[in-house]
Amino acid sequence: MRNLTIDLEQYVFVGESQIHGTGLFTTIHIPKGSKIMLITGELISEEECIRRENEKDNVYIFWKNDDCYIDTTHSTKIKYINHDCYHNCEVIDGDESSLILITSRDISKYEELTIDYGYEEIYAECNCRKCA
Ligand SMILES: [Zn+2]
Repeated sequence: MRNLTIDLEQYVFVGESQIHGTGLFTTIHIPKGSKIMLITGELISEEECIRRENEKDNVYIFWKNDDCYIDTTHSTKIKYINHDCYHNCEVIDGDESSLILITSRDISKYEELTIDYGYEEIYAECNCRKCA
């Protein structure tokens, strides 16, 4: 299970977002249920996750399972994915040290990739079409 590779990542690029700052986009149409990319980074505990959240304005941490989180600060792509209540991607479990980004519906060429960040505070500051 080591060295899982997912080919669609090559079609994902970082660009200017209508939602917030920079975001992730795709240069091709991607059907629903496709694995897009692996989410990897530094594996940290919940305690360390909370410490980093309190210390920094922006963190790029994904919850993996139990007491395990993945800090993607040093990633080149996945850290830029934005939240949208009408998200088109979701995160599923990967191998022992990764998560996987998959499409939860068909995505058009040049559409922004989004997920539901899934923590309470995001909905209060969300500017998506549903919340704005
Ligand atoms: Zn919203």
